[in-house]
Amino acid sequence: MLIGIDDTDSQHGMCTTYLGAVLKTALERQLRENVRLHLVRLNPTIRFKTRGNAAVGITTQSSCGVKDIVQAHIEDMACLHDENTHPGAVFIDRDTPPLDIQHFSHEAIRRELDISYAVKLIERNNVDFLAYKKGRGLIGALAAAGATLGKEDHTYELITYRYAQNHKKQRYINRESIYRADKVTYPYTWDTIDHKNSAIVFSPRSQDPVLYGIRGDDPYHVFAAHSKIISEPYEYMVLYVTNQGTDKHVQHEQIDALTEGCSYALTGTITTAPWAIEGGHIFFQIGEQQRTLRCVAFEPTKQFRAAVRKLCEGDRVVVQGSFIKDCLHLEKLRVVELQDQFKGINPMCCNKRMKSRGKGKGFKCVRCKTIKRHSDTQDIPITREIELGTYEVVPSARRHLAKPLIRDRCVRHPIFPSR
Ligand SMILES: [Zn+2]
Repeated sequence: MLIGIDDTDSQHGMCTTYLGAVLKTALERQLRENVRLHLVRLNPTIRFKTRGNAAVGITTQSSCGVKDIVQAHIEDMACLHDENTHPGAVFIDRDTPPLDIQHFSHEAIRRELDISYAVKLIERNNVDFLAYKKGRGLIGALAAAGATLGKEDHTYELITYRYAQNHKKQRYINRESIYRADKVTYPYTWDTIDHKNSAIVFSPRSQDPVLYGIRGDDPYHVFAAHSKIISEPYEYMVLYVTNQGTDKHVQHEQIDALTEGCSYALTGTITTAPWAIEGGHIFFQIGEQQRTLRCVAFEPTKQFRAAVRKLCEGDRVVVQGSFIKDCLHLEKLRVVELQDQFKGINPMCCNKRMKSRGKGKGFKCVRCKTIKRHSDTQDIPITREIELGTYEVVPSARRHLAKPLIRDRCVRHPIFPSR
């Protein structure tokens, strides 16, 4: 049976992945079989979203009593009192999801879908479900149950959960052990530490049940990293198969065909060189066939902005990010071609640089008094400080779905992974 669950958490606590971990234990006890979990990240920019916008999928062999167990756990654990929490769960009694639900799942990662679309598919396929309050969680639940991660690029996240009595206390994880875990398993695990900013990325600071999550390419390296971590005891440890770090939210489009709230990779030429605004956010504009698009690298993207700042008018780039309020919020930048840049210097005479006679008035030789026109300025090429290749935001600013460049380590063009 394929089970999908979403929207059980709130801004103040809980976490749908925690419900998944608790349910795995409960279902395994009841069904006497191994239960598999997966984690589907949905379109990161939609308006109504849970923290991180994750939905949980559970796969079981048997379906006996499954719905009752799921129902009891949602009613016990979901933040039903929170005005923004509207849980939903679906139960598809098949091994693989129907094609129209698989399609729905793909769409939910890229677009903003309406609940009526989910309800239509639930009715058409005779899918059993649970919906609470406005039931908005049905969208994510159906997307999770309809995901076919095994057939596509996927990654893993091992998540540990704290004992309830510790939730209000400060987390204890030995810092050195995190560095050791990262060192022995990178690049097969990633986003554990943001080295440039000395920030621990794999552990939340908020009061939620997650102790830490290790993200990686395969279970072997994820468990190897986990084995190095010294921390407070944890109540649950689960391995999620996930679409995190796969760029599944990104569509390849032309500048004139963008929809608000979707994520894109777009090719263009810099038409306005980068400029900074207060707060350290860097903007620039690209153009392609008479259309222009503003792009921004926000302050939290940190060192990524250093690459952005070095762009010049005329450079060819591929920009990637979410299109929000008519502006592309950058996740990645690929520099495809650099436009030669020149700076004008005064011409030579009598083996010396001539003196300027003032703006637009030409030059004069201090020795022989020759005068030359302003247009005689010599253009010399400037050495560009940026290299061709792909740049990305720092790990602490990365969206869950965004593919870390280090996962592209076998591509032909140069990459500059942020770590
Ligand atoms: Zn001269």
